[in-house]
Amino acid sequence: MTQFGPLEIAPIQASVSDAEWKARLDLAAAYRLCDGYGMSDMIYTHISARVPDAPDQFLINPNGMLFGEITASSLLKVTIEGEVLYKPELPYGLHKAGFTIHSALYRARPDAMAAMHTHTIAGMAVSALKCGLLPLTQTATRFYGRVAYHDFRGPERDPSERDLLARSIGEKNYCILKNHGLLTLGESVPEAFIAMWGMERACQAQLAAMACNTELEMPSPEVVARSCAAYDLTQSRRYGLLEWPGLLRKLDQVDSSWRQ
Ligand SMILES: [Zn+2]
Repeated sequence: MTQFGPLEIAPIQASVSDAEWKARLDLAAAYRLCDGYGMSDMIYTHISARVPDAPDQFLINPNGMLFGEITASSLLKVTIEGEVLYKPELPYGLHKAGFTIHSALYRARPDAMAAMHTHTIAGMAVSALKCGLLPLTQTATRFYGRVAYHDFRGPERDPSERDLLARSIGEKNYCILKNHGLLTLGESVPEAFIAMWGMERACQAQLAAMACNTELEMPSPEVVARSCAAYDLTQSRRYGLLEWPGLLRKLDQVDSSWRQ
């Protein structure tokens, strides 16, 4: 089947739980915002959310939809073992590498409710630097000591990759997939999104500073430690809670079709 016109997706709000619909709305918004802020890679990469009242299931994009087209009803529902429980009437299915990465995270981390993965230029560039993400800016200190690194072995299509990724990420919420891109986890979609926003900007700032061919001013270890501590999620507000409603208003001002 080939689709040439606008996508027509039957609304499914009436057939899912309130908790699942809320997760679908947040996840669809995250796709639109990811695209709007220039963090998408056409149809590639993925953002996912665990179904709150069915912890062995998660929601993820159908492979073939642009991020700017994603709606709440278009998201696939799959089990962490790979069974597709719901897909819209579209010729788009589950992306193998996307499933491998996100199922690995939900299997290994019961606390993770959402995960976001990007292939931005800045994220890919920092993922290719031996030094990784440096605490060069206030924004970057948020991630100091909190980033896991995962070695590149080619696209993550082999199920054995799930254990390796779980081992690499451990208890951390931020990961640089070396020579590949960025990955964040959160206890909600907004938290994973705002973490990605911060890590993306930290990468952009590092590359901009390193490109200036002049000596870099690295904050002292004491300052880095103090700044890093100020971003301790167990001590401060959860990121995303304050930002998210404004971001949803911003989306609605442009187009509220993500809510369908
Ligand atoms: Zn990727």
